[in-house]
Amino acid sequence: MSDTHKLEPGQKVNLGEMPADGKDFHDNRKEAEKEFKELRKEFRDLQARLYAEDKRQMLIVFQAMDAGGKDGTIRVITQGVNPQGVRVASFKAPSKKELAHDFLWRIHPHAPARGMISIFNRSHYEDVLVVRVDNLVPESIWRPRYDHINNFEELLVDSKTTILKFYLHIDREEQRERFQERVDIQEKNWKFSFEDLEKRKQWDGYMAAYEEMLEKTTTTYAPWYVIPANQNWY
Ligand code: ATP
Ligand code: MG
Repeated sequence: MSDTHKLEPGQKVNLGEMPADGKDFHDNRKEAEKEFKELRKEFRDLQARLYAEDKRQMLIVFQAMDAGGKDGTIRVITQGVNPQGVRVASFKAPSKKELAHDFLWRIHPHAPARGMISIFNRSHYEDVLVVRVDNLVPESIWRPRYDHINNFEELLVDSKTTILKFYLHIDREEQRERFQERVDIQEKNWKFSFEDLEKRKQWDGYMAAYEEMLEKTTTTYAPWYVIPANQNWY
């Protein structure tokens, strides 16, 4: 795993100053796509070995603002991977039953079993993001969750899970363009919701929540990567 976009524990995070343009890191889209295909081949091979070895497992977490590219990224990285060895879990707003439990209750069953890769499309991190920005619970409830998350992830790592966490970083203008596409292009209409526009107004609140989350939950055993995601080919 390249360390270019990896955060260090204790690092101060200012997303406004962090690159969202992947083109500044790779100047040739064609070349990048070729490299990606090579890497994906390697990923497939390693996944097959992980499954055959059956001794450890991997968790990959994706977080991003709406239209940040989580779905598309998961679709392309898993292409050709043996579906028996990979599970994707998408976390939506919790049900009444889920809300009656602690916030990790619905997450834990989706942690990977031995030999498996779990990919989270959204995750337990929503519980310090949307929950904070929308004031769904008081700060006295969400603030201790950074520690709970770190402890939970430490448990997974101690149980032989490798954890990779990616924040797909787009800027506000890129999000506007992607929403516009969802309106303009019929095949993409289904992805658009008016809630997205409401959320857009909360951009600054989300950036603050993401920044603190990235600072508090980048650990030696489960660091975050902030991936410039304005160009999805990068
Ligand atoms: P798409 O990219 O297709 O829009 P999505 O992941 O945004 O996919 P949606 O159904 O649009 O899927 O949104 C899921 C919603 O569930 C998000 O708004 C997210 O913030 C919300 N959500 C996820 N986890 C929680 C949580 N723990 N508490 C409250 N809301 C949550
Ligand atoms: Mg959405």
